[in-house]
Amino acid sequence: METTEFMFGVAAQLPSLEARDFSLMKDAGIGCLRFGDFKFDLAAFVQGRPQGEGFRQASARVRDLCGEGFRLIGITPGPREMAAVSLEPGSHEYYQAYDRICRFLAETFGEWIQWWQVANELDIWIFRDQLDLVQSVKFLKTGIRAMKSVRPDLKVGINITLFPSLPGEVDGNTDAHEGLVVAEGIYGDPTLPVDYAGFDSYPGSWREGGPESWHAYLDDFHALTGKPVLVQEFGYASAGGIMSPEEAASGLYPCESKKWKFHWRGEHSEAVQAAYLQESLRIFRGKPFVLGAIYYNWRDAKRCWQCKKPDCPAETAWGLLDQEGQPKLSYETLKKDFMRSAE
Ligand SMILES: [Zn+2]
Repeated sequence: METTEFMFGVAAQLPSLEARDFSLMKDAGIGCLRFGDFKFDLAAFVQGRPQGEGFRQASARVRDLCGEGFRLIGITPGPREMAAVSLEPGSHEYYQAYDRICRFLAETFGEWIQWWQVANELDIWIFRDQLDLVQSVKFLKTGIRAMKSVRPDLKVGINITLFPSLPGEVDGNTDAHEGLVVAEGIYGDPTLPVDYAGFDSYPGSWREGGPESWHAYLDDFHALTGKPVLVQEFGYASAGGIMSPEEAASGLYPCESKKWKFHWRGEHSEAVQAAYLQESLRIFRGKPFVLGAIYYNWRDAKRCWQCKKPDCPAETAWGLLDQEGQPKLSYETLKKDFMRSAE
């Protein structure tokens, strides 16, 4: 059963998007953009100083994007960005500052950005930074309540990725069951005005499986949260070799070996990426409780953001466009399917 409301979008670097990107997106049915780069100076805000030119430009860009007809999903700062405010993580003052920041973002952008994701994947230690799991849940609740208190009309949620919880299979998933703890903290609180359950997963790249994994993942996640599900990130890397069983067993990280531990259909290539995208979207659209999905990401990166190396496949080959901005097979397939559905 397909709903006409299904939101399909991409994660993109907001400041680098040009008119050509917008028309390419529209041609392929991409109507939604998710981003968190508002060039928002948290320290200045907390200290009562004005925002800089970057924030003004980013704000103008937000209005432009709405004018272009895109639906926007905003991401609020996470604990890593909060380090800039120099308050003790987890302290009363820290949460108070976060409350004010989220209220400000909701008030400033609420007219243009209807959908919000508070922080990003706090079940992952990299993003949780200095907060523990209990503090992370409190952080997320603070952000959700702050935004909904000033703009009850906004759709506000969070995202997690360590689900199903399989300690040892995915980096950061331990016996502490980080994903489940965060999910139960948020969705188990009936007083919390959370609108949707955001879910990120990369079966075939960062964890075992492929598009077919989405059936159980999404059905079980919906059952766990009791909320409509928004796939905030999914994707398939189109480059990188596959680790040998010995390499995989040794615990090598993809940045170290420049190979993937997991794969779908035997390889990380442009052809498999295209098929992965097509098959995943078919499954998402077949589930009425799935609100939409955001493909990660729009364009290949020149360097891996984790290890900073240009030749590392871990974070350089997720794009629908290559590093030069040329459409990859995944983009062409998406566009063909969109045009066929519009006929
Ligand atoms: Zn890397």
